[in-house]
Amino acid sequence: MSNMKKPDNKPMIAYVVIVIVAMLLINALLVPAINSRQVQDVAYSKFLDMLDEKQIQKAQVVSDEYIIFQDQDGNLYKTTQMNDPDLVSKMHEQGVIFEKDLNETNPVVAFLVSWVLPLVIFYLIGLALSRSMMKRIGGDGAGGPMMSFGKSNAKVYVPSTTSIKFKDVAGEEEAKQLLQELVSYLKNPQKYVDIGAHCPKGALLVGPPGTGKTLLAKAVAGEAGVPFFSIAGSEFVEMFVGMGASKVRDLFAQAEKNAPCIVFIDEIDTIGKKRDGASSIGGNDEREQTLNQLLTEMDGFDGSKGVIILAATNRPEVLDPALLRPGRFDRRIPVELPDLQGRIDILKVHAKKVRMADNIDFGAIAKTAAGTSGADLANIVNEAALRAVRMGRKYVIQQDLQESIEVVIAGYQKKSRVLSTKEKLIVAYHEIGHAMVAAYQTNSAPVQKITIIPRTNGALGYTLQVDEGDKFLLSKEEMLSRIATFTGGRCAEELIFHSITTGASNDIEQATKFARAMITQYGMDDDFDMVAMSTTSNMYLGGDQSLACSPDTATRIDEATVRIVKEQHAKAYKILENHKSKLHQLAKFLYENETITGEQFMEILNQDEKKLETTADSADTGALPSGTTSETTAQ
Ligand code: ADP
Ligand code: MG
Ligand code: ZN
Repeated sequence: MSNMKKPDNKPMIAYVVIVIVAMLLINALLVPAINSRQVQDVAYSKFLDMLDEKQIQKAQVVSDEYIIFQDQDGNLYKTTQMNDPDLVSKMHEQGVIFEKDLNETNPVVAFLVSWVLPLVIFYLIGLALSRSMMKRIGGDGAGGPMMSFGKSNAKVYVPSTTSIKFKDVAGEEEAKQLLQELVSYLKNPQKYVDIGAHCPKGALLVGPPGTGKTLLAKAVAGEAGVPFFSIAGSEFVEMFVGMGASKVRDLFAQAEKNAPCIVFIDEIDTIGKKRDGASSIGGNDEREQTLNQLLTEMDGFDGSKGVIILAATNRPEVLDPALLRPGRFDRRIPVELPDLQGRIDILKVHAKKVRMADNIDFGAIAKTAAGTSGADLANIVNEAALRAVRMGRKYVIQQDLQESIEVVIAGYQKKSRVLSTKEKLIVAYHEIGHAMVAAYQTNSAPVQKITIIPRTNGALGYTLQVDEGDKFLLSKEEMLSRIATFTGGRCAEELIFHSITTGASNDIEQATKFARAMITQYGMDDDFDMVAMSTTSNMYLGGDQSLACSPDTATRIDEATVRIVKEQHAKAYKILENHKSKLHQLAKFLYENETITGEQFMEILNQDEKKLETTADSADTGALPSGTTSETTAQ
């Protein structure tokens, strides 16, 4: 078999050793037992009697001591011989035939019993064992027992089990449209063959984690009603060089047999990484061989057979260019984070599986959950259901969903972690500082909710800021006002307590990142104009920036970054200074209620500014206890 080149030898060797030992035992114990069983020991006189009665047919004089003989019926006897010199001639007279190996069974029979029979038995045992093993792993158990090393163990989803349809994947209309063509090809390949069109061999689903790539691939199979072979890229990565390649071969052989069908390679970046000379010295042989095999298989594939290869990744930029050229994964299907309508639809899809109150406002939930993926939203619905059970309710209400967003985004509420009064006051002012700076700058998004209940993820306070609708383009002014908003928390601390805390570390990081990106990525700084000095990699996994410029320029970038942040910091400080009484009023409300919603916030903000004398201005501004570590501003 072609895929037996480099089998995983360890279990094979053990098995062979066991079989050999067992067969030696059989030969030593069982075979003599079979052979000697029939030989009866009889007295010499009886032998003479039988000889006289012409009952003896064959005989063998084994040595000076034994004679083995056989009667008419084929029974074997053995007797101790007396030293009778005439015996041989007497036997001859009675017509006894002298045989050579009387005691031995037929050599063919002996061979069968001692060697072939045990082999057959062990083969059957092995077969049964590997069958049951394959079943446990989830394979189809189709291959022979010892021939299955190096098989692809791709999970096969037969059409009946793949009941996922496009309607189960909400949002992602664009991706679904692109995949629709593949579905129609799988349903009716002949139509395409007739006109002479090649269907794309492969399509690559690209997008951040949890956006439904795996789900979409299954839906394609479900829509087309064809088998679905699914294997993760990591399953090709093997200890032994050549194993991965043989798995690839086997996967494609299986697929071709089951055409039309879909082969889905999840997380293809694990095997599809760019091949580069330098890194292969250390032993990336296995991965490269696997990749080469994949490339070869995709080329050698008869497109008209109706096998379509789907792959998913969230790191398209690391893939080998050879994988992406026409004839391989030439279709790239973006699967992006859902927009507002998409989020609403996804929530509705998952809400169907849960008992819900009739008056759920999915729009509000989706608005609050900006930036979440489909997987997050599925999780939000499930968390809401769990919360409903905890609360002893029979169905999910709006509040469950609202609360579970915060659970998914910010971790569970941690009521046990108690802030000191002083800390709580600082956090309240800090959070209100952010919110006010955001609200007074017309371009900033309104605040949805602020809480100062510590969360398990370490955030002490937490501002939920939601864009009305999703924004893809930010103007320079919006970028700047966001930076100002980030500094707002620190500004409030300075203004009220005349001292600063460690609570702003995350704000500082964000503000710096924004300011830097304005210069190096978006060309928003006059001094640098439209020169991009940084490139983004890992776009879907948070985005790593790498800077490419002279050290001199790097210094100037740093200076400009500091300048931008400082300007915005000053601006934010001014805003809060001008509305100090509002700051007191709002912080007091938050401090007392621990939570303030967007509406409450705007209501207080829009009241006439009363001159309020609040406690905080005269509050003790001494050193803060440690523990005010970090806080998050969710955007
Ligand atoms: P990935 O893109 O990482 O492969 P999955 O397809 O595995 O993401 O999605 C994980 C889960 O999230 C799915 O099983 C599904 O419950 C949910 N999900 C993700 N995207 C969607 C969507 N567009 N519509 C409905 N459910 C979704
Ligand atoms: Mg996936
Ligand atoms: Zn902050």
